[in-house]
Amino acid sequence: MDKPVNNKTAHGKSAAATRTGRPSRAEAEAAVRTLIRWAGDDPEREGLIATPARVVRAYEEWFAGYNDNPRDYLKRTFEETGGYDEVVVLRDIRFESHCEHHMAPIIGRVHIGYLPRNRVVGISKLARLVEVYARRLQIQEKMTAEIAASLDAVLKPHGVAVVTEATHQCMTTRGIHKPGVTMVTSRMLGVFRDHAETRQEFLSAIGMRGANHGNGSG
Ligand SMILES: [Zn+2]
Repeated sequence: MDKPVNNKTAHGKSAAATRTGRPSRAEAEAAVRTLIRWAGDDPEREGLIATPARVVRAYEEWFAGYNDNPRDYLKRTFEETGGYDEVVVLRDIRFESHCEHHMAPIIGRVHIGYLPRNRVVGISKLARLVEVYARRLQIQEKMTAEIAASLDAVLKPHGVAVVTEATHQCMTTRGIHKPGVTMVTSRMLGVFRDHAETRQEFLSAIGMRGANHGNGSG
């Protein structure tokens, strides 16, 4: 196998990279080679030679959320409610994210509820909203709050409820090594914050009960 061309650009940033503060692909791949050496292996050995390029491509997928503005996206997709005035719940939206402290995977599910005022949004758009925020460096509390705030700002519903359940691989594979621990965070806005009955209706719909989910992270 031929070695990939080694574009050494240590001091030769492109105009675009300088403008956005974003390094070139070659610089990103060089950083991966550094981490491989830091781990104790040889980035030039056959099994690892293509790894930096693969890792950088994986990063493009894992962190694609920086390229999207979810609020703009939701704005273009609302529909009339046709008189529907009950709580809408979408549960078990799986997501994969990365913690901003260790860049380790966070894997879990988001449950979203809202009480429409005069707009609803398609199921796929809610899933897409979760994905845009998940595909960034995150902390779970912030992601939960961001999803709720976006829906609230764009749909202007009577209320929004977001509950996130996730496992953090920085807790399960390193540090305190606690497999099986799930973190639960929630954000309740409007009627879900102010009316216990509406909140309870949502929590029952997602299979949680009785928990005292206040405004903020749980
Ligand atoms: Zn972490």
